[in-house]
Amino acid sequence: MAVNGDWSDCGFLVLNAGSSSLKVALFAATGDEALLSGKVEKIGQDGVIQLKDAQGQALPVAEGVAEGDLGTHTGALMVVIRTIQRHFPALRLAAVGHRIVHGGPQFNAPLVITPDVMQTLEALAPFAPLHQPHNLAGVRAAMAAFPGVPQVACFDTAFHRDQPFVNDTFGLPSRYYEQGVRRYGFHGLSYEYITGQMRQLAPQLAAGRVVVAHLGNGASMCAVHDGRAVACSMGFSPLDGLAMGTRCGQIDPGVLLYMLDQEKLSSAEIARVLYHESGLLGLSDLSNDMRTLEAAGTPQAQRAIDYFVMRAQRELGALAAQLGGLDALVFSGGIGENSVLIRARICERLGWMGIELDPARNAEHATWISAEQARTAVLVVRTHEELVIARSVRAVVGMA
Ligand code: ADP
Repeated sequence: MAVNGDWSDCGFLVLNAGSSSLKVALFAATGDEALLSGKVEKIGQDGVIQLKDAQGQALPVAEGVAEGDLGTHTGALMVVIRTIQRHFPALRLAAVGHRIVHGGPQFNAPLVITPDVMQTLEALAPFAPLHQPHNLAGVRAAMAAFPGVPQVACFDTAFHRDQPFVNDTFGLPSRYYEQGVRRYGFHGLSYEYITGQMRQLAPQLAAGRVVVAHLGNGASMCAVHDGRAVACSMGFSPLDGLAMGTRCGQIDPGVLLYMLDQEKLSSAEIARVLYHESGLLGLSDLSNDMRTLEAAGTPQAQRAIDYFVMRAQRELGALAAQLGGLDALVFSGGIGENSVLIRARICERLGWMGIELDPARNAEHATWISAEQARTAVLVVRTHEELVIARSVRAVVGMA
């Protein structure tokens, strides 16, 4: 905690705990650049840790890391903490910010995690069984490591909580909506960052009708009007909408009934198919990685790419309809920021929506990639979810 409001020797951690990974970033009281960032992957197996400093130089982990230290989230966090203590001995840790996938209907803004909040977040685990328990494991690990230090939750669902009822519900009996079966939408931290960037880059466009395409391993699109969420391609779970690395995207619920009744799959087996064996990987029988598919040139890889592009175009059309037109399309995420081919493919034949790319600018990964004469702007904006969490932590704990 700051002494007399002086935060100058304080820093704080941003944590993003997944099922087998822990992404970390260490920020000082001020500044957008992380002092340290990196990730631990394959937690529970052989554990791989990579940390770098603000200049991008690899930081050696603290001495004495034993085999097995990376076997759990708590162990991985302890290794990160020891490394921070070694490289930043004078820094006092004043807060920890967490990416929490699900804030339910209740939480539409970042907040300090009290015992009551923790209980509510635990109760939301059935809504996101593959993500929420891991996020909360990260919170528990940080609470144990830093007793008394504020833990701040930042929700991937919060950005979408303002969306109108028709885009928040399913056509199910109303009791399901009351139970919390809603279209929550995800990737909200990314959308918040990008709408903030849009306000700086192009305030007039930001005040208009924008679709943001966050195309990473997980992928979604969000319709935003004047900075506020209108509709999202992801719904109750992060499965809906676009095809993804290993997730199916939009699916006819009749297929799930077929898997249950005819194939006699258990819910766990269905979850494995939908979350881990579908999407680009399932269609290509090769890889979930767009780079590999682009390089492969096989008919199977081509089909996976074609399906990914078709889904993106359909979602874009649907979201533009919700906005009553389109002023700007923004690409983001690993694929959106880096794939010249996928951006071009998604935008082809969309001249009727005013979308036309400048091939040279697209190839250069310029920020503005639409053609001069195009009616609809197309931009590429690199997302930065950790920075959104960092800014929220500062605001919530009063750090400046
Ligand atoms: P996550 O959702 O796990 O954060 P990312 O946003 O890092 O994922 O995106 C990962 C995806 O981005 C992978 O499919 C990867 O192949 C793709 N990607 C990264 N660089 C390129 C590139 N140069 N060309 C095509 N795809 C790329």
